[in-house]
Amino acid sequence: MTRPPAVTLRGVYFDGHSSRDRAATLSLGESAQLTLDGESHAFAVAALGVDPPVPGVRRVIRLPGGARFETTDFAPLLAWERASGRNRALRGVAWLEAHWVSALTAVGLAFALLGGFIVWGIPALATQAARVTPRGVLASFDEQTLHFLEEQDFIGPSGLPRERQAQLQREFRQVQGWAGGGYPYRLLLRDGEPAGAAGVGANAFALPNGTIVMTDQLVALARSDRELLGVLAHETGHVTRRHGLATVYQGLGLGLVTTLLTGDLVSASTFAAAVPAAILRGGYSRAAESEADRVSADFMRGRYGTTKPLQDILTRLEAGADARDSEPTWLDIFRSHPVTADRVAALKALDAR
Ligand SMILES: [Zn+2]
Repeated sequence: MTRPPAVTLRGVYFDGHSSRDRAATLSLGESAQLTLDGESHAFAVAALGVDPPVPGVRRVIRLPGGARFETTDFAPLLAWERASGRNRALRGVAWLEAHWVSALTAVGLAFALLGGFIVWGIPALATQAARVTPRGVLASFDEQTLHFLEEQDFIGPSGLPRERQAQLQREFRQVQGWAGGGYPYRLLLRDGEPAGAAGVGANAFALPNGTIVMTDQLVALARSDRELLGVLAHETGHVTRRHGLATVYQGLGLGLVTTLLTGDLVSASTFAAAVPAAILRGGYSRAAESEADRVSADFMRGRYGTTKPLQDILTRLEAGADARDSEPTWLDIFRSHPVTADRVAALKALDAR
């Protein structure tokens, strides 16, 4: 360390008892020399307390006995601090300059942690949050989403004959009784193409509170009601495992991180409006689909000793989509188009056990 230069600071002196200030100078060198009203007082430099700088405020040097010296001679004081190593904050800067590799490593580590949080932390938190969400909150999700779907002509009133509807409702009660969990399950039969191809088409999906929508087009595609019951059991798996809600929370979680990073608080207020959209567009993870398929497999193997009806309708849905070469269907049962083959293979493996 270089020898600190002697500097003389002009400023004011407070005795620590009254608020009256008196003009004074403080010389800092080998020792400290306070000159006040023509008199000199010497102190050991080590006995001085130098407060950290606060922008726009006089620097404060605390003297032994409770008195203090304040100065606006910032530059000479700073030079003395640097040379004498008195200022801890400045020492920190010097350390960083000397150890910039460590500093960059720390920044990289922070980004890696953030990335890990986005990839693993948010889904885990979302799943936990979905599990502990009170029942009362769920009903509004169902209603908002249905309202949105009807308003946008994604679904409309079913065109199935009353008798057929009643039959499907009776059959759904078997699945409902089996699924459990205490949800107010209900099956809504709806036209998936009330305004043509812009609808959801042949599909089925579950909303968080146990509302399950199945379209006339899916009913028409099925060759037996067992296939439809396999689909409905799959949907109850999404309800009891709370996959829809986890998807919503996951979407919100990413949005919150984005908000933190960009400081864009406006987007936070749009979250509430995005809830139905998150359920519909977010889609389920492959893990969630597999879990719902295993739930359906339990039901089907218990009833029929096989998951073949579910495999059949999944395969037929995929073939139908290829033939139409249409927009991918974006609601549940067939939204995971590319992985249908994997799902069918997994169901076959379950049957083989
Ligand atoms: Zn699903």
